[in-house]
Amino acid sequence: MSNDPLGTPLQFLKGVGPRRAADLEKAGLVTVEDLLCRFPIRYEDRGQFAPIASLKPGQRASVQAEVLSAHVRPTRRPGFRIFEMVVRDASGSIRATFPNQAFLKDVFKPHQRVIFYGAVELRPGTGLQLSSPDYEILAGEGEPGQLGEAGPAGDELTVHTGRIVPIYEKTGTLTPKMQRALVHQALQSIGETIDDPLPAALRRKINAPERREAIEATHFPPAGASVEALNAFRTPSQQRLIFEEFFLFQAGLMLKRRRQRADRKRRSVVIDDRVRDAARAVLPFRLTGDQKRAVKEIVDDMARPEPMNRLLQGDVGAGKTIVALLAALVAMENGFQVAFMAPTEILADQHFMTIRRRLEASRFRVALLTGSVPARKRREILAELEAGSIHMVVGTHALAEGAVAFRELGLAIIDEQHRFGVVQRASLRGKGANPDVLVMTATPIPRTLSMTLFGDLDVSIIREMPPGRQPIKTLAKPESRREDAYKAIRHAVDAGRQAYVIYPLVEDSEKVDLRAATAMAEHLATAVFPQYRVALLHGRLKQDEKDRVMASFAAGDTHILVSTTVVEVGVDVANATVMVVEHAERFGLSQLHQLRGRVGRGAHASECLLLYQSPLTDAGKSRLQALVETNDGFVIAERDLELRGPGDFFGTRQSGLPTFRVGDLGRDSTIMEQARREAQDWIATDEGVAELAGRLRHQWKARFGLAEVG
Ligand code: ADP
Ligand code: MG
Repeated sequence: MSNDPLGTPLQFLKGVGPRRAADLEKAGLVTVEDLLCRFPIRYEDRGQFAPIASLKPGQRASVQAEVLSAHVRPTRRPGFRIFEMVVRDASGSIRATFPNQAFLKDVFKPHQRVIFYGAVELRPGTGLQLSSPDYEILAGEGEPGQLGEAGPAGDELTVHTGRIVPIYEKTGTLTPKMQRALVHQALQSIGETIDDPLPAALRRKINAPERREAIEATHFPPAGASVEALNAFRTPSQQRLIFEEFFLFQAGLMLKRRRQRADRKRRSVVIDDRVRDAARAVLPFRLTGDQKRAVKEIVDDMARPEPMNRLLQGDVGAGKTIVALLAALVAMENGFQVAFMAPTEILADQHFMTIRRRLEASRFRVALLTGSVPARKRREILAELEAGSIHMVVGTHALAEGAVAFRELGLAIIDEQHRFGVVQRASLRGKGANPDVLVMTATPIPRTLSMTLFGDLDVSIIREMPPGRQPIKTLAKPESRREDAYKAIRHAVDAGRQAYVIYPLVEDSEKVDLRAATAMAEHLATAVFPQYRVALLHGRLKQDEKDRVMASFAAGDTHILVSTTVVEVGVDVANATVMVVEHAERFGLSQLHQLRGRVGRGAHASECLLLYQSPLTDAGKSRLQALVETNDGFVIAERDLELRGPGDFFGTRQSGLPTFRVGDLGRDSTIMEQARREAQDWIATDEGVAELAGRLRHQWKARFGLAEVG
């Protein structure tokens, strides 16, 4: 066994046999540290004892009392027995009942002093009772007459009652109460000092309690602690543990970045007049100031000996694609190949078409590689990529698969990064010798999340929109005003524009939703807009069918596109000026903003109509209001994080966000900022960094649920 008490397997704790240990393992708990680092989700004050005579039905109360009598009572249901006792304090007596727990007759005896915590109920016929309360038997036997004074039970240590009690999330067969008892025991087993991963100087600087002390006080808060502060996770001990977690995470990201900076590309790009001319030749318009700055930052990175790791953030429609294409062109002019990975086939198709058109006059060959490319074609593309005769490949995660190899991959571009796991990012990067990596996201990401997801990347931001854009007018209306939406569509289509009608599609009601979207498309086509061409797009269509529908809409042949959220990201049809969202209350804020971004992409004025079903929840109202009020994606992202919390910010898709044990990205954003600053400072001092780096590498996956740091 190791001499690290935290590393001790739980089965060495008293009372944990092999069977219990197996149950714990199923709940993800193997070592003492696993257990101690699963912190309470909230706290209950069970420290104030209520005199029995004061108890009222419906209340939850702590009572300190003496057992008067105890017995098992049969019921009319065969085999169903109730353990019952009568307990009293100085003010009066009450019954405590425990259905189906006859074994308690061996636990309780008259004259024991016991603390109870539980619900007070009024039973017709039998009066007030404590129903299945938590209990804790105090050592020694009570003297009748001395019971009932309010206040804690002297110096006696209680675990489940008579104090501020930690409440844990139930995991598997492990109940909160079992966990509380185990944690209590584990704390006694680990001794007075444990290793502290926070550097001592830093601990002094930020005035943080010792780790051992912080862990104990977070599970079993000392007398006099504030339940409010505890439940807000704002006690010094809780804050220290959150800081520790965030600090280690940020330090890990920075160390990773430092290692990457030590990597070398085989060669870096050279920018000369020939490259500049080539870039100018593909430019269909003048770049905005922000686009120019982003291109410069990217190309400067590419010219350095160490590989680029840069994030390009920009709101929908800000014009990231051309920036990426210019970077690609610089790479190709320097003899490198480029991979461009998009999150969906529709997007990959669209990028492919845009890029192929822009590169038509150049000597570079572009290919599309997605899951629906036929096997023969796919083999050809793979061979050409390996031979180097295809210069750029656009595709989905199919690009990250093992069979894909390049002659010399110099630049990997990853669109909508947070939809991909870190593993896919790493796997695409691994197809070259330290290639440059550019990741792009069209979802503006709140600062805390961006620091967490992309803390290891340099960041370029495009805030400025291309010239001539008109702000999108957004209105939220109840479904009863549906005619307004139809009027807007009619008006637009008569003027030569096009419209989207979006239907929600959520996983648990997919079939019903799909039917609704299909029925709606039919209804619009036959009853509402018989004079226009209406098409339906959804994820269940075959790829070639999707392509046909999209192509027809892009060409202007389809007037109204009824669609599920597959058009959400990046779809670009500048002539579409009306966006109607059905059941807008069912979408997240960022998602609605993304959808709205499908219009307002050309010179024509656009509008977005959010139809909702009344009554709206408060959260629903806030979301729609935020959209009506602002078009700024960064403002919306912050609001969304506030409203939904980080777990839901990215919806149900794989987010690549780490799992934290105590920290919460929504609640603890200022601690994340502080942790990042301190990690930066500390790494600069270089003291003990190597040691921590080794440790972090070792624990990274287990701690944060993410793939390798490096
Ligand atoms: P996103 O950042 O959402 O990927 P896109 O790259 O798709 O945005 O650009 C949105 C639209 O704006 C495209 O039609 C693109 O051609 C156009 N665009 C981008 N930059 C400019 C610019 N500087 N001037 C005019 N139009 C531009
Ligand atoms: Mg885009």
